[in-house]
Amino acid sequence: MIEIHKLVKHYRKTKALKGVDLKVNRGELFAYLGPNGAGKTTTIRIMTGLTRATVGKVLLGGCDVTKEPRAAKKQFGFVPQHINLDSELTVSENLLVHGLLHQMPRRAISQRIEELLDYIDLGDKADTLIKELSGGMKRRVMIARALMHSPQMLFLDEPTVGLDPNIRRRIWALIKTIQQGGVTVFLTTHYIEEAEFLAARVAFIDLGSIVALDTPQNLMAGIGNWAIDEFQSNHMRSFYFQTQEEAKKWAATHKNGFTLRRVNLEDAFLALTGKKIK
Ligand code: ATP
Repeated sequence: MIEIHKLVKHYRKTKALKGVDLKVNRGELFAYLGPNGAGKTTTIRIMTGLTRATVGKVLLGGCDVTKEPRAAKKQFGFVPQHINLDSELTVSENLLVHGLLHQMPRRAISQRIEELLDYIDLGDKADTLIKELSGGMKRRVMIARALMHSPQMLFLDEPTVGLDPNIRRRIWALIKTIQQGGVTVFLTTHYIEEAEFLAARVAFIDLGSIVALDTPQNLMAGIGNWAIDEFQSNHMRSFYFQTQEEAKKWAATHKNGFTLRRVNLEDAFLALTGKKIK
């Protein structure tokens, strides 16, 4: 459904992408995970036609985003990182503008607005001004707006950045429901638990290159099942073990403060890049 071929992007001296290749299957929920400045937004901006690649190409449902931009654009909805709703308009007016831009018939627009507001659980906010909504509600309206023209793909750039944990989980549930409805979802995030919870497959991106791409389970299994974090004069080291018994045996022979826990996706990223994501 999404094919990215040898994508390179240079901004003057910065090599933001250094040859990214990836494929996302129809109906998949795919996470693109990496630290600040890794190249996530640059990739999604090229995918949505907001900026051009220096080298390489992106195909969406077989359409080249540079050569067939109109056909490509019909197929996806995009939720950018920063809230860009019109704060002086109501919720339904924001959705209406998007429907008109996509040349949807008026009747279809009204029906779709009603349907989507129910879907995002904001049926009672249709006539509320955007500026009167909470941050989490605005995010949900952004998602509804991206779905107005019933796209086959949804691209989300850091969909829960800055939201509190309860609201984040609500957005996660919404994203899962959208994917279960048949939409292919591509999301960028620097929240490990977001990728671990949501995605069928995860690509780790660091300094403009993909360093690993697999299911969260396989990425984690590559380093072990249990981790011990050892605290020693202002720094922390992690050690990985296949079984809890091996970890406990190791712990019994060490006297420094430590904690035993399950391996997570951050450990896999750390093992591959030598750095933490946050
Ligand atoms: P974040 O999580 O902070 O949004 P990111 O992974 O999305 O990070 P990008 O925004 O794609 O990363 O940035 C990748 C690199 O390209 C960074 O070094 C960034 O400073 C640089 N960059 C991004 N946009 C521009 C631009 N318009 N002009 C110059 N450099 C840019």
